[in-house]
Amino acid sequence: MELTELLGSSFDCACGKHHTVPTEEFIYEKNSFGAIPRLIDTYSPQKRCLLIADRRTYGAAGQEIEALCESSGVRCDHFIVPDSGDESPVVDDRTRDVLVNQITDPGLLIAVGSGVINDLVKWAAFLKDKPYIVAATAASMNGYGSANVAATIDGLKVLFHAAAPKAVIAKPDIIINAPYELSTAGLGDVLAKPVSSADWRLNNFLFEDYYCQFSIDLLKDLEPVYLQGPQKIKNRNPDAFKALFMALFYSSVAMTIAGTSSPASGAEHLISHTLDMLAARDRCSHDLHGRQVGVSSILMAALYERLMTIEHPQFREPATAVDGPFWGALTPIVEKEYQEKLPKMAQAIAILSQPDNWEALRAAIAPHLLPARKLKECLQRAKAAHRYSDLRYDKVPIDKDFFAAAVNHANQMRNRFTILDIAVLLGVLPQETGDLINNWLS
Ligand SMILES: [Zn+2]
Ligand SMILES: [Zn+2]
Repeated sequence: MELTELLGSSFDCACGKHHTVPTEEFIYEKNSFGAIPRLIDTYSPQKRCLLIADRRTYGAAGQEIEALCESSGVRCDHFIVPDSGDESPVVDDRTRDVLVNQITDPGLLIAVGSGVINDLVKWAAFLKDKPYIVAATAASMNGYGSANVAATIDGLKVLFHAAAPKAVIAKPDIIINAPYELSTAGLGDVLAKPVSSADWRLNNFLFEDYYCQFSIDLLKDLEPVYLQGPQKIKNRNPDAFKALFMALFYSSVAMTIAGTSSPASGAEHLISHTLDMLAARDRCSHDLHGRQVGVSSILMAALYERLMTIEHPQFREPATAVDGPFWGALTPIVEKEYQEKLPKMAQAIAILSQPDNWEALRAAIAPHLLPARKLKECLQRAKAAHRYSDLRYDKVPIDKDFFAAAVNHANQMRNRFTILDIAVLLGVLPQETGDLINNWLS
């Protein structure tokens, strides 16, 4: 099946689910914005739209779209989401309320931006029961076509369900010329896939959780383009950027049809979310999501490699509570997640202690993994973040001990079971965290 045939489709899958792809159009071409007046016609009988951008994306694409709408006889209002201090806007309940209050008229919402603007508009559109489309301005993350919003509420990173956009539209020249760090962040986000799909299969193996191979296989023709030619990303090669942008979009489609972020979010995302939460605790800034995810993906691929060499696993009992002194004010919210996971940890020990099950798990996981070396090379050759010290925390390069502590505690912050939990149960974390970081992220 061609990927584009999926758009707006509904079909029975071998996984047992009936999948529906709510996004009906994906346009990545020179004149893609020309489709916007038609989309407004389709989704807004009153021929009205509200364009939402930040001050950067308004300049990069918003003004052009507005002019196009006006010349087509469509009324287009705009709202510029305010920056948070001297930083970009953030996805939190306060900003959401500001935006929701702007949505008074009927019509279509147009998000013009990348991660933050897309999530804010998706959230507001869902609450106001409005259709929305997104004009993407960077290949920076894999949330364009997803139904999920990643927000911060009371300091905790939460993921919750909203609605996917009706259309995702991008102009190659805007995507290619976006700040390069945003593009390498997108590359980092999409490289999470081997680890996250292995983690998904791990949950399926241990707990018989729902799992869909079709969602995993969606990217299989796109992955080789950037994995084998990362320098093409660096050289702004149009085909490589198209593959990257498509991979990010279809990765979000995979999450939407599976009804879970599991196809594209595993242990590597928990490390990134931990850094985000610590930054909220410390009231300071953290690095781009995809940059944190890319670096963490190298480390988690290396962790999988290390654990898969173990022939006779010896499990230890997990801690019965989270590390309070480490989490500080975040302890109560993290503790709740961790307590929900403890029964899964006990179950994992019980299952993997039985003869042959460890071997069977290794066989089930192997097809998903890519060598850590491959991920490292890809990010390195694309001039993306690939060392812990490439990441910034509070605007300065991250400290090794701080990064190691985030890795050692990341399994406590979500109830999702991942390879981090297996590593903790085997004692590989925290014992070998320092060595793994030295070997792979220095
Ligand atoms: Zn399926
Ligand atoms: Zn991500």
